[in-house]
Formats: sequence, structure tokens, C-alpha cells
Amino acid sequence: MRIPGQCWFATVLLLLAGCKSEEKLQSLNILLVTIDTLRADRLGCYGYRSIETSHLDRLAQKGVLFEHAFAQAPLTTPSHASIMTGLNPTAHKVRDTGGFTLAASHTTLAAILQRAGWDTAAFVGSAVLKKRFGLNQGFTVYDDEMPSAGPISGEAAQRRASEVVDHALRWLDTQSGKPYLLWVHVYDPHLPYDPPSPFREKYAERPYDGEVAYTDQQLGRLFDAVEKKSPGNALIAVLSDHGESFSEHGEYAHGVFLYDTTLRIPFLLSGPGIPAGRRLQQQARTIDLLPTLLELTGMKPAPEVQGVSLTPAFKDQEIAGSAYGETMFPRLNMGWSELRSMRTPRWKYIRAPKPELYDLQQDPFETNNIAESHPDEVRKLEVQLTAITGGANERIEPATADAQTMKQLKSLGYLGGSSPQPYATGEKGIDPKDRKEILKLLYLAMYSDSPLPQRIAQLRQSTTRDPTNPALYSNLGQLYAESGRPAEAMQLYQDALGKGIRSAWLYSRMGQLCARQGKKNDAVAFFEAAAQLNPADYESLQNLAAVYRETGRVADAERTLNTILNSGEPYAPALNELGMVWYQKGDRATAQGYFEKAAQLDPTYQLNLARLYRAQGDNVRARASFEAFLAAKGASPEYREMVPQVRRELSQLP
Ligand SMILES: [Zn+2]
Repeated sequence: MRIPGQCWFATVLLLLAGCKSEEKLQSLNILLVTIDTLRADRLGCYGYRSIETSHLDRLAQKGVLFEHAFAQAPLTTPSHASIMTGLNPTAHKVRDTGGFTLAASHTTLAAILQRAGWDTAAFVGSAVLKKRFGLNQGFTVYDDEMPSAGPISGEAAQRRASEVVDHALRWLDTQSGKPYLLWVHVYDPHLPYDPPSPFREKYAERPYDGEVAYTDQQLGRLFDAVEKKSPGNALIAVLSDHGESFSEHGEYAHGVFLYDTTLRIPFLLSGPGIPAGRRLQQQARTIDLLPTLLELTGMKPAPEVQGVSLTPAFKDQEIAGSAYGETMFPRLNMGWSELRSMRTPRWKYIRAPKPELYDLQQDPFETNNIAESHPDEVRKLEVQLTAITGGANERIEPATADAQTMKQLKSLGYLGGSSPQPYATGEKGIDPKDRKEILKLLYLAMYSDSPLPQRIAQLRQSTTRDPTNPALYSNLGQLYAESGRPAEAMQLYQDALGKGIRSAWLYSRMGQLCARQGKKNDAVAFFEAAAQLNPADYESLQNLAAVYRETGRVADAERTLNTILNSGEPYAPALNELGMVWYQKGDRATAQGYFEKAAQLDPTYQLNLARLYRAQGDNVRARASFEAFLAAKGASPEYREMVPQVRRELSQLP
């Protein structure tokens, strides 16, 4: 396919793997930017007057802006999986953030372009898109290293747009010649809302807007660099993975409901083959991005792709496509019913225990549920929905997520954060809209500035109203831990077990409480239960190994640690613990080898190494290791109490 307006650059002929015929490819560079949690109505180009987003506004003037664009899920990982595959979550099977991985059997945009000769690189801003979740398929470079947050917290859950863009620009500098796909994911508008200066001060009362304005500033650097590198020869696509609710419909953040507050997204396209300055009214979806970009580069999507190319909309032609939406979040995390939706330009239907229908022309904010008075519309939309979800109940199979991942999700404001069990959809459940007061209490307890005892009381109240909601126990337990009340935390977790809640995080937390109180045998039992429910939970396995060792079960400790290390993922705490095992066995040379490996991965472990060197009389290496520890961790608040002691040890070395 020849795209009008192309002139100086070469049209290359490539034989596509899997295609019978030769296709004429446009060697266009592609910049795909996904801005997490960005509401369309918070951008200047979408009509918001109280913000400065000049770079995105300029991009909208240079290309097309979709006024009505929608995500297929209000959750980061599922929505990105739809963007990358052109498939609804029912097909790609990534149903929640954390606990689900995109299977290698799916074909991503990056994999298609890589096969056709493109250089591919991705730079992501959050741990929820790490390689282990499968969105790295087709990317030669996949930069997902988050900064360290300290030894106890491990890796931070996110990084600033400035860092993501810096890394992307460095990669762009190394590119010469071949067309490229560059995906940049920025996470800043996601909770917690804490923009850096000067945006913090400028938007003091509206920190979310401050994050958006800051993100725009950073993207400006990226757009400039791409324009300089590939003048007139880059397609730029910008969209978000979902919106954000600011208490509309009783929702805070995103994930529980399927209203436009969280499903509507900004969607901008510019570059060769795309008209300038057009605002398009046709309904667009995240699954349409892949077919659109493929068409613009002269390729066709595979038949199983569920999205369609949006290019007919450039000529005001009709584009097919009711927008499917789903969220399994309430079911997987709260013990409530899942929700599904079907949106046409006129109607929004939500399949829930109590179905909802909104006439979007009369009621764009979805405040008046008219399902009962419009049974014909409900029936028609239910048929469309069933065509996507299938008639039978669907089996949802979460993969297990490790404790570090769960901790990162928590720190990102995912108030669910339990490791869920498989289930079949369609079971009668609690309607999430009947639990709005719980959502409010949960949000206030975790994010308000109220004193801790008050927040604890709010969550306690919630557990009596919604006693089988795992998220309440998980978050309340966290608050007890923060306020140094281990006995109450233990009692709470016992209550949760009594209510039939079974999950690895629960047993793991009980194990940690027992271990801290010196009840080692109880700790072993709880950690073993956690490991059985979730064998991918490295943190529990490593804790289990530590209590095995401390109770003299050295062989069991060694076996458990080898389970982690045999999985192939380098895991510093396990290497360090294995060093302790060998030290206890009296083999200092082998112990040293493990301590050295652990310290290479994480400088926290230089401390054990320093003390081992000192014990061996190797003061030169002991000094170097003490210094390496202090250089990496000396300023970290988590080590405030330990650092003076370490400095003393260093100064006392002969
Ligand atoms: Zn997101």
C-alpha cells in the first residue's frame, strides 16, 4: 500500500515471515507513547483550560485527535496487552495488573515490526510492566529497571518520566538507518500524585494536574529528539491505558468500575499519511492502534486481531467497532462481581448483577440508569457482549505473583494486592455499586492525612460490613504493621482465615509476625503454607529458608533456596541467605562466594561480605566492602540507625 505524501524515503520490499505475498512496506519510524492513568479531559487539546500541556497540544494540531476513544480495561497491564496485541482481554487473557502474564502464543506489534526489519526498544516507567508480564515480546531492548528503594523495600515500583525519557533518548542516539519502533511508557499521573518542582508548587491544589503538566514537559524533549532524528518520517501515537476517577460514581483511582471516567482515554496520531488538525468523532478503541499502525506501514494484521484500522476515519468514513470493556479487579481482589461493558456511540451497557444502561447522548456522565425502561436496548447490547465473552462461563486463571511484586503493587496504590485463586465468571456476586461506602473507607484509610488510629478504625468498620473482602484484611494488616501492633495484626489474619480467605500473602504475613516474635516453628508452618499456595513467592521461600536455618534445619534451608535460584532469576536475598547457610556449615570459602554474588546484585549485601573479610583478616577487602555499602546506603533513611555502627566498624579497621 502506498501512502500519499511520502517522498524522499525508500519504500522497501520485504518478505514477511508468515505471509504468502510480498507487501510494500513504508520504512516509517514509530514512536508509541502510553501515558498511564491520563484522563482525556485533563489535556489542553481536549478542552481543559487550567493546565499547560503545550507539547501534546501541538502534536494534536499536527495530526488527528480522537474525541471518543476508549480502553478495553481500566487496568494497566490488561490495557497495555490490548494496545500491543489488538485483542480484547477475553482473547489475550491478561485480566488484572499483577498475577497475569501475556502468553508467548500471542503476536505483539513489536514482534511483527521486528520480524519485518524494525529495530525495537521499550522504556517503561513502572514495575507493573516488567518483562515477567510478557509485554516485552518483540522488543530487542526492554528497559524496565526501576531504581532501588532500599534493602527492605527492594526495588522501587516506579520511576519518573525524566528518567524514562533520558534512557529512551540515549537509545535513540545510537540508532542509525534502520526504521525503529520506540515505545515509551510514562507513569507519573498514577497515584501517588506527587509532581516534582516547579509543578508541585504551581499545581499545589491539583497535584494530579501537576503530574500531567510535568509529563507533558518531559514528552516535549522526546518529541523534539524524534523530530530531529527522523524529520518528517515518524509516526507518533500517544494514548493512555485508562483514565482516573476522582470520586465520580463513588470510585477513587481506577479498576473497580467501567464508567467513562476510567475507560475514556486521549488518543492522538500524527505523521506521514495522517491529516493535520482534525478532531475525529468516530469511536476509537485501544485495540485499533495495532491495525492502524500496521496499515500506515503497509502491513495487514492477522485475522484474529479484533481491532480495525482507524484510517477510514481520516476521510470521515464510518469505522466499525463497539467498544468492549471489562474489569475482573473487583472479583479477584474484593470478592465482588466482575463487570463487563459494551459501548456504542449512543449507548453504554454494563453487565453487572444489577445491569446498567446509559443513553450517552442525553446523559454523558452516566448518572441515570435506564436499563429497566429499555429492555430492547439491553437485549441487543447483551447479544453484542456475548459475542465477545462467549456464552459459557469463562475460567479465569491467575498466575501467582511473588511478594515483591505484590509489595510494589501496594506502593503504587493498587488497594487489592492479594494473590487470587482461579474462578469461573458469571457466578452471582456482590454488585460493586452496592459497596461504594467500602471503596470510600478503603481510599480514606490508605490515602487520607488522618491519624493512623482513625484510619485503622475506618478499616475495622469496613471488615464488619464486608467480611469476605481480602483487600480489607490486607490493607488493615499493613496499617497495624505500620503502627507497631503485631498482636492485633495476627488476630486480624486469624479472623480472615476464619472467614474462609486463603491466600499466600495471608500466610506469608503470619509467618513474618511469628518469625519476629521468635515463634520459629509456627513461622515455618505459615511460610510452608504460603509457598504451597504460591511457589513463585520468592520472598516467602527465602523467609522460610531463614527460619529453617535458624532452627537448625540446614539441609531444608539449602533445598528451599536452590528452588529459587534454579528458576534462573538472579535473586540477591536468596544468594545472601545461601551464604549464611554455608557459613553456618563452617565452609567460609563457599559462603564468601555466595556473599560476593549477592553483593554484586545489591550493594546492601556488601555489609555481610565486609564482616566476613574482616573475620578472615583481609582488611583491605573489608574496607572496600564497608565503603561500598556506605556509598550505596549511607544516605538511605532505612539505614539511619545502622549507619553510625557501620562507620565505627570501618574506622576501627587496622
Ligand atoms: Zn495504568
